[in-house]
Amino acid sequence: MHVLRSTREIAQMRKAGLAVWEAHQIAAKLVQPGTPTAEIDAVVEEHFQRINAIPLFKGVPGRVPFPAVTCISINEEVVHGIPGNRKLQTGDVVSIDTGCKLHGWCGDAAVTHAVGEVSEETQRLLRVTQETLELAIELMATCRMWSEVAQRMDQHVREAGFATVEAFVGHGIGREMHEEPQVPNFASPQLRRNGDFRIEPGLVIAIEPMVNMGSKQVRAMPDHWTQVTQDGKASAHFEHTVAVTESGPIPLTAGPDKAPLPDLIA
Ligand code: MG
Repeated sequence: MHVLRSTREIAQMRKAGLAVWEAHQIAAKLVQPGTPTAEIDAVVEEHFQRINAIPLFKGVPGRVPFPAVTCISINEEVVHGIPGNRKLQTGDVVSIDTGCKLHGWCGDAAVTHAVGEVSEETQRLLRVTQETLELAIELMATCRMWSEVAQRMDQHVREAGFATVEAFVGHGIGREMHEEPQVPNFASPQLRRNGDFRIEPGLVIAIEPMVNMGSKQVRAMPDHWTQVTQDGKASAHFEHTVAVTESGPIPLTAGPDKAPLPDLIA
């Protein structure tokens, strides 16, 4: 079972969330044709160092420990791309995912950007994926169980003619980046039977829809980390760390204009 967080703890998590939001603002400035993805990773790492935050992605265990503080995934790469020498090109979509721990509390968020001008269909993919995340946050104000939210998220994706990735899901978050419960972006009979959870004050989860333009199938690349779409079509990924409070859901990794500052969370 997962832990519920007090208002005071959620206010602390908002600080970590803002640090992650700042990292995304810094990274976004480098999203332009010609930027090697390792350069984006480097500025995020510097930012975390400057504010004494612990990067959460570096060293995550796998066949090889994850080598960077961000996951950067381009075009058909869905998630877990490793930053490197590859340069962004006009027409690419690039997903940047990062998280940090600040004063013992974690934040995790992802954004997919268009690099220069992209096709209309690609713009629609990004818009629909972002809408799916926003819809989930909004529905948390009224839905009682997560399966209701997940079902509506997947419905939104299907109605757009796209596919929700099922191989990866969101997660509880708090003292650690990955905690209980698992947070799928689609409702399966399995979720309803075992794994569904109540949306109630104190719940803090990272919600991260991954949406494919073609089929939902993904496969791992030989680097053991990068996940790509099996059909080679584009994929998008948006994520926020979200807390449920007595006054409603708060996206903890959103900017100061989109969610209350730590002192105002009560
Ligand atoms: Mg996450």
